[in-house]
Amino acid sequence: MIVQYIDKFVKREIFQENFRERSIIRLMRILVVEDEHKLAAAIKKGLGQEGFAVDLAYDGLAGFDLAVGEEYDLIILDLMLPGMEGITFCRKLREEEKVQTPILILTALGQTEDKVKGLNAGADDYLVKPFAFAELLARIRALTRRPKESLPTILKAGDLILDTVKTEVRRKGKIINLTKTEYALLEYLLRQKGKVVTKEQIIAHVWNYEADILPNTVEAFVGRLRKKLGKPAIIQTVRGFGYKINPNFKIQNPK
Ligand code: CA
Repeated sequence: MIVQYIDKFVKREIFQENFRERSIIRLMRILVVEDEHKLAAAIKKGLGQEGFAVDLAYDGLAGFDLAVGEEYDLIILDLMLPGMEGITFCRKLREEEKVQTPILILTALGQTEDKVKGLNAGADDYLVKPFAFAELLARIRALTRRPKESLPTILKAGDLILDTVKTEVRRKGKIINLTKTEYALLEYLLRQKGKVVTKEQIIAHVWNYEADILPNTVEAFVGRLRKKLGKPAIIQTVRGFGYKINPNFKIQNPK
């Protein structure tokens, strides 16, 4: 009996530990600029499983347009690329466009010279191919770590509490089970509490660029989430604009 209990307890701890890791990196958007399609697809798949939203570009120019036009938490950049090579990419992004998104260079060129060139051009770190996926993940986590004060771990709306450390949502103390996407959606809305968030913003933050999500998919997810969260409703619809979580949401105390 006791052994079984301990076993269960240990499993639960491991389970939570996995989720804790994931919750830290949740909602991160990464741009991968890599002309080797197979490698690009493998990175995307691996990072997708870790909860990242990943966009791919197969040449320097397309990648550069995305890096300038979209908001990313990190850019993973190959050096030898058609269109625009990696060193130029870094330099132009930093000097001309003033984009400060962290850049992790992936290079087959192991020579010190190339690494130094990349770092001098504005990259933040580099990884030499071939690399282990765990190593890539470790670098990504180091580069995307945000200052603690800007990222509260407990998010609240009235009697609803989302704990990003435990990846747990509770209402009136009772755990609500959510899917990965529902959780990501709720976390995003809570972080924007009081602001109106459009469906397009939700798509950009919760899904990746290639996912081809339509606004009515967002509606469906919001609908499911509302149902799970119960009443009184926490997510408000702002007609013609999007959604918002009411900052003045109060616990109703029926007598
Ligand atoms: Ca290449």
